[in-house]
Amino acid sequence: MQAMPTCPNCGSEKVRRGGTAIWLIYLALIALGLPAVLILHLNAALVAGVMLAAVILAHLLLEQRVCVDCGTQWRGPIPPPG
Ligand SMILES: [Zn+2]
Repeated sequence: MQAMPTCPNCGSEKVRRGGTAIWLIYLALIALGLPAVLILHLNAALVAGVMLAAVILAHLLLEQRVCVDCGTQWRGPIPPPG
């Protein structure tokens, strides 16, 4: 089991994955996916599958986390305390 990550700024444990970079990727995928389905008439299920894979990959690659309490965003696994 992985220890709960804590905020490097305020030490809060109310931390979730996400952040601006992830949202930009979501928006970019939607901006690319909608015209792909509507204009190019690609298979919607196929496009959705590719988008889902890209989102999962983005999470794995970015490892970005956000503190719910103070809004600090940081990347990568948290180094062990001490
Ligand atoms: Zn914080």
